[in-house]
Amino acid sequence: MSVKRVLQYGEKSLREPSKEVHKVSKKIQELVQDLLDTMYAKNGVGMAAPQIGVNYRVFVIDVSKNDEPLNPIVFINPKIIKKSGSCVAQEGCISFPEAYTDVKRYSDVMVKALDRNGRPFVLEAKDGELLARAIQHENDHLDGILFIDHCVNRFETDEILAKHKLPPIDPEKLIND
Ligand code: ZN
Repeated sequence: MSVKRVLQYGEKSLREPSKEVHKVSKKIQELVQDLLDTMYAKNGVGMAAPQIGVNYRVFVIDVSKNDEPLNPIVFINPKIIKKSGSCVAQEGCISFPEAYTDVKRYSDVMVKALDRNGRPFVLEAKDGELLARAIQHENDHLDGILFIDHCVNRFETDEILAKHKLPPIDPEKLIND
């Protein structure tokens, strides 16, 4: 498989909702491998299919550290079935090169999904760990929601976007929860 071009903020597919996967076919398994190859090539923690221009409900995450073995987790048709708590931390996205801003997330989530072989699994991430944040970030991509929509400070975030020559926040997309 191969490293794909990553769409940048402002490109249309990033704002489009993604379709459910009806069958974990060879085509979907190839998509999974492309996502993993592209995520590792960009040193990312996660990557969702819309970021490579494919609007299917698939994302991958690997929160292993540099000195640890790779630990890819594949999520197909994910659903967050439990969420609680809240925490704020700096967040970025491969579709927003070098732009980071404070984002509020649930600190605990439980997600169910299919793995790359189409087998269902449930995963819990707690206490604001990176995995919990990554699951919410990537899951949002499948609904056309971007991390800046959850930003803590709109004006500061707009300044950061401008500094990196990215389009401004869309005020209609802001989420206040
Ligand atoms: Zn992202």
